[in-house]
Amino acid sequence: MQSLSILGSTGSIGTQALEIVDLHPDLFSVAALCARSQKEKLFQQARRYHPAVCGLVDPVPESEIPQDLKHIQWVMGPEALHIIAAQVPCDMVLVSVVGIAGLPAVMDALDARRQVLLANKEALVTGGHLVMEKASAIGKPLLPVDSEHSAIFQCLQTRGSNPPVRLLLTASGGPFRTWKKEDIDRATPAQALRHPNWSMGQKITIDSASMFNKALEIMEARWLFDVSPDNIQVVIHPQSVIHSAVEFADGAVLAQLGVPDMRVPIAYAMHFPDRISTGSKSLDLFEIGSLTFEREDPVRFPALSLARQCLHAGGAACTVLNGANEEAVAAFLAGRIPFGAITRTVMHALDRLPSLPADTLDDIYTADRLARETSRKYLASQEGA
Ligand code: NDP
Ligand code: MG
Repeated sequence: MQSLSILGSTGSIGTQALEIVDLHPDLFSVAALCARSQKEKLFQQARRYHPAVCGLVDPVPESEIPQDLKHIQWVMGPEALHIIAAQVPCDMVLVSVVGIAGLPAVMDALDARRQVLLANKEALVTGGHLVMEKASAIGKPLLPVDSEHSAIFQCLQTRGSNPPVRLLLTASGGPFRTWKKEDIDRATPAQALRHPNWSMGQKITIDSASMFNKALEIMEARWLFDVSPDNIQVVIHPQSVIHSAVEFADGAVLAQLGVPDMRVPIAYAMHFPDRISTGSKSLDLFEIGSLTFEREDPVRFPALSLARQCLHAGGAACTVLNGANEEAVAAFLAGRIPFGAITRTVMHALDRLPSLPADTLDDIYTADRLARETSRKYLASQEGA
């Protein structure tokens, strides 16, 4: 029996991880659950999974904790992630919060020598070098949950001493894959939230529409697999059946396939290296008929080129891209800016903050703060533009 803490239990990844616990109560127990604001959902989860500790980042007074849940230890406020990651005994911590909040959570869990299951890509985007160094120092490599990175990780299991020469990172292309640039620029939140293949949280769904999700994934892959960004090729693959692939020195390419269902990579990380049932549908290649592939379009989707530029620039450039994008996505979802202003906000921040250091966690948080301040000013100037 493996005990699991989930940071971000009320979200898309968190709830699907709990579905895997439902399927395998003999394999997993829940040590702790942490959410930000959805208290009623967290109360329901607490009743069902009996964690010893629960956290709510947006605090509620003790009087609001239901009577039947008072025996649980409740941690409230911004410290909740830290306390659960660092102090609650467990075998594995699934980090599935959104945004840079994942970085300190991952570092805390590694400091406590826990096995980290990583859904939150922003931890590697912003602090990849520090996270990878710490995971290697404690001898607990991260187990990726992001479907593309899980696919690559699965393909690498048989590699022996052969390093990958190229990663083929697949992308669905999102809802605007076939749209004209001027239509993309004017797209509404409702249009951007309509992802063709995956049902996910709001932030990552918008990132999929702008291709900033794939930009963050190039950064994530660079750190997880220690591959130069020049050897990571993005392949637009609208069917989302090939979840990614790896090429080796002899020209052989190994890919991982399946229906798009996040429970598969979540369960693989939860019970690595053994495979367990997930409730996922079986892949029917006859029903799909054909798999197609397209090149990225740097004019309509500049995010990928920006990601490569940031990785080559080094320092805190990736953190600046991420912070500016988070601010811009929030403004877009609030209806304050047009879709096209997301990319313009990121470019503006990169232009204004070209060479900040990222040697320490404090450097990274400073770069994140500066990127947000710069972007908020720019966004205010864009409203209604
Ligand atoms: P959701 O928005 O669905 O869920 C996020 C979860 O984290 C919720 O439980 C939320 O709490 C909590 N949360 C959000 N912000 C904070 C914060 N600052 N501090 C503490 N808790 C917080 O997101 P997803 O599940 O879609 O994504 C989670 C992460 O996984 C992201 O980094 C995403 O990029 C990555 N990912 C997601 C995939 C997917 O299919 N969804 C696929 C691959 C990667 P509450 O809702 O209670 O406010
Ligand atoms: Mg992904």
